[in-house]
Amino acid sequence: MDKKIEKVIKNLQNNNINVVFAENTEKVREIVKDMLFQDADILSGGSVSLVESGVFDIITSSEYNYHDRLKQGLTEEEKNDIFKKVIGCDFYFCSANALTENGELINVDGFSNRISAISFGPKKVVMVVGLNKLVKDIDEGFLRVKKIAAPKNAMRLKRETPCVKLGHCVCLEKTDTPQITDGCNSEQRICRNYIISSKQMIKDRITVILCAENLGY
Ligand code: SF4
Repeated sequence: MDKKIEKVIKNLQNNNINVVFAENTEKVREIVKDMLFQDADILSGGSVSLVESGVFDIITSSEYNYHDRLKQGLTEEEKNDIFKKVIGCDFYFCSANALTENGELINVDGFSNRISAISFGPKKVVMVVGLNKLVKDIDEGFLRVKKIAAPKNAMRLKRETPCVKLGHCVCLEKTDTPQITDGCNSEQRICRNYIISSKQMIKDRITVILCAENLGY
């Protein structure tokens, strides 16, 4: 195994984060199926990695109790009821915006349901992370968010933010070394809350499935 991958696995474990390496998305799906159980209560964040890996199809299948906040026709009250189910649910699935060689997970959110679930609530958090998300350190991780993850997510979500036109965060027009929270003034901004998950209090509450293929952005 590549020395860099060995290093990130060791550092994730040292941060009390369980990690499973998957050579490809087929293996990712096997790992996910093995960890789930019939009628498990599951929620997820919006994630291209979950879709591309085929994990989204698994967790939304009839074997499990998937709570879908994006279901057509839900009232605001019904959506809020689904958000509340994240507390104590069996599994929360998402990806990460970046993973550092030191074993830290970086995530930036707008509505922030995803980063709140990562921090507290679900019994288990499962992150499906492609090797394209691996960065050297926290500074490089936040630059990755500003150069790749946030602009592409803003495009996917059809936001009218400067990064959609520029292809990168507007803050990079002023400096190559922005502060973490530098960004636009748009009402549609998707970068609002920022978390770095380092050494966890509850061992193995978070599992990273590290896939050797590129997934999402
Ligand atoms: S702060 Fe605004 S411009 Fe910058 S990446 Fe986020 S949404 Fe785009």
